[in-house]
Amino acid sequence: MMTKDYRNTQYCPSLENIADKKKKLQNDIIEKHPRQRNIYNKVRDKKSSYNEQFVQIYNYKCAYCGVSMDVLPAQLFEVDHFIAESLFDNKNEAGKLENLALSCYQCNRNKSNFALVGEYTKKLCTDDGKIADVFCRDEDYYIRIKDEYKEDETIKKFYDKLQLVHQTRRLDYLLMNMKGLYKKLEGTTEGGRLAQAILIMQEKRNKFIA
Ligand SMILES: [Zn+2]
Repeated sequence: MMTKDYRNTQYCPSLENIADKKKKLQNDIIEKHPRQRNIYNKVRDKKSSYNEQFVQIYNYKCAYCGVSMDVLPAQLFEVDHFIAESLFDNKNEAGKLENLALSCYQCNRNKSNFALVGEYTKKLCTDDGKIADVFCRDEDYYIRIKDEYKEDETIKKFYDKLQLVHQTRRLDYLLMNMKGLYKKLEGTTEGGRLAQAILIMQEKRNKFIA
């Protein structure tokens, strides 16, 4: 059985073949821009079609907490170096697409230069969904560390540093659920009421945006 991915609500399509899709995108970029040494500079540019394609590969969602562009505006999403740039000998190596992930500003800024090394680059891999074996969503919508990793210091540090327990993560998940349901109810009386509730919750959420 597939593990349920804490980043997805029942309305989110599952994240698939991210690594393959990124490889293809990287090949396209190299083919068109053979002199471009740092792929990161190409995909981080929000005006470029490469950024759009990159964002699409991640289903318009943060690879760490799962918040979607339905809830947070696109300008609050950033391209994150999965393994910190400082751990590489040069920026071009760090900027290869395989090391880049779509991240909300909150996860990206909090994660900052967190040193993901060794086995943790696999355990916390966002692209193959391994990270969803480590964290889960509890019934109150909080992101939690799964029991088997509760004593793992590195996992705990990662969880604390990214502030995955922050209540904005629940608000985001709640809003993603509400908005997913709204798409089904649009045009009905219930849909109208739900739209009102969404407005209130979204306002509450937006207060956290610095
Ligand atoms: Zn995030």
